[in-house]
Amino acid sequence: MKNIENNNHTFNLIRDAIPIKWNIKLIQSNGKKSRKQETRNEEQQKRKNNIIQTPLEIKPETRKMKVIKRIKENNIANVFIAENSDRKQFEFVESIQPPLTIKQKWVLILSTLYGCPVGCIFCDAGGNYHGKLSFDEIMFQIEYLINQRFPDKYVDSDKFKIQFARMGEPSFNNNVLDVLEAIPNTFSLKSFVPSLSTIAPIGTDNFFNKLLEIKENLYQNDFQLQFSLHSTDEAQRDELVPVKKWSFEKISEYGKRFYSSKGKKITLNFAMGKTNILNVTDLKKYFDPMIFLIKLTPVNPTFKAKENKIESLIRPDVKTYSLIDELNEEGFEVILSIGELEENKIGSNCGQYINALNQKNETIDQSYSYGIVDL
Ligand code: SF4
Repeated sequence: MKNIENNNHTFNLIRDAIPIKWNIKLIQSNGKKSRKQETRNEEQQKRKNNIIQTPLEIKPETRKMKVIKRIKENNIANVFIAENSDRKQFEFVESIQPPLTIKQKWVLILSTLYGCPVGCIFCDAGGNYHGKLSFDEIMFQIEYLINQRFPDKYVDSDKFKIQFARMGEPSFNNNVLDVLEAIPNTFSLKSFVPSLSTIAPIGTDNFFNKLLEIKENLYQNDFQLQFSLHSTDEAQRDELVPVKKWSFEKISEYGKRFYSSKGKKITLNFAMGKTNILNVTDLKKYFDPMIFLIKLTPVNPTFKAKENKIESLIRPDVKTYSLIDELNEEGFEVILSIGELEENKIGSNCGQYINALNQKNETIDQSYSYGIVDL
């Protein structure tokens, strides 16, 4: 957290990310709606009532942002680097996941903060926090990719998913909520799954209460919510994710409120390093297998994982783990999510961040090796 004193966002950081060692009373926002929000809600209501039938016009060129770099084009995943008028940069990703085509599945992974005050010790997007992306900056990422792939503005994909999971803990930015509310009114989509991954930091209750309202109003059975736990041992979880977070009880209570029987189970994600603790008995104390499923992922090859000597337990060539059997025996559904190895080389995987390359004079085996093209 040493960047905190050195930038202009001390207030935001105090409110947004309370390091474990601090004990600061949080001041919650009063939840009042802005005029912009009210206008959007009125429009949303009109659309629900079929008064407005066409999607809003998409004009990314009117936003003061531009894409300045991208990863060499390929058919697995593409990473784009954009810059705003203050020359602040953010990255976003489209993931294609062959052999599926874009028409079968298309996933966008968006940034929500500049840097991230959480600083998970395996994540290259963490640290160097210098602000939140605006509503327009988040929408720009979606609009840019839709314009590239579906220039007639109709996203003709059987499974179109947007994940708020590139750079930044999304619950620190209320603009994410506005974007979630705006998406159905702005884009013309054949299908849509919104997906939000969070470490559940403290001080974000207003965000999550509003998220629940939005899910119930707009995305009843489609919302994919993930809590990134990484360990069932609280002390180890604090080392891996070094800010104050909701307890397991609180995550469990919220998950029960969020879950609907026709919707998706709530995901508990563990990026499993070799020393990560996942005690199935402890997990079952808090989390009901009827409501929560477990996703096991590798620790991807990042600069931070290398610096902190975190080796992945999950390996691409190994598909069976005794841990999965233990979880299954306790009734948990388990997803082993390994993904394409090539995505590590592209730098599109979880915890990776292309701009981290600029700050390093080293390389990582099997990681970040695709060329970056200036646009
Ligand atoms: S994993 Fe997420 S919360 Fe943790 S540092 Fe990276 S972006 Fe922030």
